[in-house]
Amino acid sequence: MPMIALCDCNNFFVSCERIYRPALIGKPVVVLSSNDGCIVSRSDEAKAMGIPMGEPYFRIEPLLRARGVIVCSGNLAMYKEVSSKVMRLLSGFTDKMEEYSIDEAFLDFGIAAREPLECASEIRRKVGRWVGIPVSIGLAATKTLSKLASDKAKKSEGGVFQITACSAKGVLDSTPVEEVWGIGRKSAAMLGRWGIFTAGDFARKDPLWVRKMMTVRGLMTQSELSGQPCLPLVTAPLPPKSIQVSRTWGSPLESFDDVRCAVMENVISAGQSLRKCRLAAGAMEVFIRHGYRHSGECGYFADSVRFGNPILSDAELVHEAMRMLGKIYSPGRRYTQGGVTLRDFCESSSRQRELWEDSAYERRAKHERLSRAVDMINERLGGLAIYPAALAAKDKKWRPRVKHLHAEPTVLNL
Ligand SMILES: [Mg+2]
Repeated sequence: MPMIALCDCNNFFVSCERIYRPALIGKPVVVLSSNDGCIVSRSDEAKAMGIPMGEPYFRIEPLLRARGVIVCSGNLAMYKEVSSKVMRLLSGFTDKMEEYSIDEAFLDFGIAAREPLECASEIRRKVGRWVGIPVSIGLAATKTLSKLASDKAKKSEGGVFQITACSAKGVLDSTPVEEVWGIGRKSAAMLGRWGIFTAGDFARKDPLWVRKMMTVRGLMTQSELSGQPCLPLVTAPLPPKSIQVSRTWGSPLESFDDVRCAVMENVISAGQSLRKCRLAAGAMEVFIRHGYRHSGECGYFADSVRFGNPILSDAELVHEAMRMLGKIYSPGRRYTQGGVTLRDFCESSSRQRELWEDSAYERRAKHERLSRAVDMINERLGGLAIYPAALAAKDKKWRPRVKHLHAEPTVLNL
């Protein structure tokens, strides 16, 4: 029988903060979404106090303060770096792995010679010691069952839980159907009306009925619950159709210089993603918005361009974006949001060389080498260690509000 493991990092964002601030270990901690909007991660201690997930910060701030909960502004760049360390470590345990989200991965152990429980304990030990992140691991024959097993693992002592062919019935009968991966709130309500309350009830229902009421996707979930794998691991991520980077700015911007720098940051970040996927962009759109949608006057302005020969270097991307921005910006407005979209991709290696234009080709090749070198340095040092001089010496008031951000850590590579 195949063996799928779901590795899930516990309270991931809080656990990341604790790597660099061990003083937070054992204390109630919450992490906020961008612009200090709402709670997106809670430590076990904060959960035990009944602090709800997703709660807007401004509403719960007095309570957090009264209960002595430590508040951290989210630092997504740091979480992504920790995530890639965890993923790299996990990939050493199998050659078939799906990165399901920033803090979760499915591992196919195949028909491994080793005891899967032993393997899971080793993963927990290594990720805990080498990266400093606690993980829970669910083991079962299918993705849907291993997801369920990992929920049980979170509540179990050793952090590992296995669902076997023998134990499946007991587990499913004690699990509410809405806790099954792939069954949404609406389906669960519908199932309830038909007297289906547990995962076990659902697994035993006539497959034809399931197919009629919940389409093929529902049928797949049902088969997976009975140990028949239907959802293969998505091991190679599909190349994106477009890359969009946009931000709501921390405070409104008026001068062209501020808007230009804010959008430039987005273009640079989009360029990094583009080159990481080894793509070049055949089209680009830039937009800015002024005012706030829910209050008074607001407006949206955009411009787009197609490139005869797709581009990928920061120099070219920034040049084109700034040219378009000059057309859509007008003074006297308070801009609150802006961004860039890249699309119409082709593989960067498959572009045609314009033979008749040698000097332009040389210039372009030089820009591309430079961008790749900058990417390499930034990847190694973390964040934007190198950035265009135009962005230096700015007060960067477009950056999101992060009142509780702590000194940016230097992440060392393993
Ligand atoms: Mg998690």
